[in-house]
Amino acid sequence: MIFHIIDLGHDIFKKNDKLAAKNREKFKKHKVFTVNVMGAIGSGKTTLISLAIEKLKKEYNVAVIAGDVIADMDASRFSQLGIPTIPANTGKECHLDANIVNQSLNRVNLDEIDILFMENVGNLICPADFDLGEDLRIVVVSVSEGDDIVLKHPVVFQKADIAVINKIDIADAVDVDTEKMVKDVAYLRPGIPILKTSKKQEETIDLWVSEIIKAYNAKSF
Ligand code: MG
Ligand code: ZN
Repeated sequence: MIFHIIDLGHDIFKKNDKLAAKNREKFKKHKVFTVNVMGAIGSGKTTLISLAIEKLKKEYNVAVIAGDVIADMDASRFSQLGIPTIPANTGKECHLDANIVNQSLNRVNLDEIDILFMENVGNLICPADFDLGEDLRIVVVSVSEGDDIVLKHPVVFQKADIAVINKIDIADAVDVDTEKMVKDVAYLRPGIPILKTSKKQEETIDLWVSEIIKAYNAKSF
């Protein structure tokens, strides 16, 4: 995977921001609430999104754009949940951008969607720099990435609305101090909601889903 952040000129970001604004307008027009989920490969993005979808789909029409470098493994996990799933193959790009999202939107009926998840490509660096037009930006890290992972990737946390520290059930096994990770996030982004989750602890998943619903309810279209 190539992290080409250093080579990107300002006009690439400007062009992206323009398209993101268009996406945002489109989402607003069709009353779609959008959630951009960022995080490294293996942090548990797909699992957390799937668990949220299972609960949300009882009350909301949910869809997902599954950003992936090549394979569509995540996309098939989502489509098994019986919701509209758009695999967004980014080729060798290591992030979703506003253009890929814009093109993906042609493949769904936005009027039939309340909440649209966008699972970003797995890395903690360049996805932070690409606005997709989303309402809510979530960053997921897992304890298995080590407790210095947060401070090593300040930008993605500084630009997030919610931070999730996942796989807390294995923190002791991997000798990681979860509270250090919480403190680091709070230092980088004071006041941000910080969730500690594990798919094995249902109450943490309920909290994760309720944070999304809270943000959805706070949005006025
Ligand atoms: Mg995934
Ligand atoms: Zn990238």
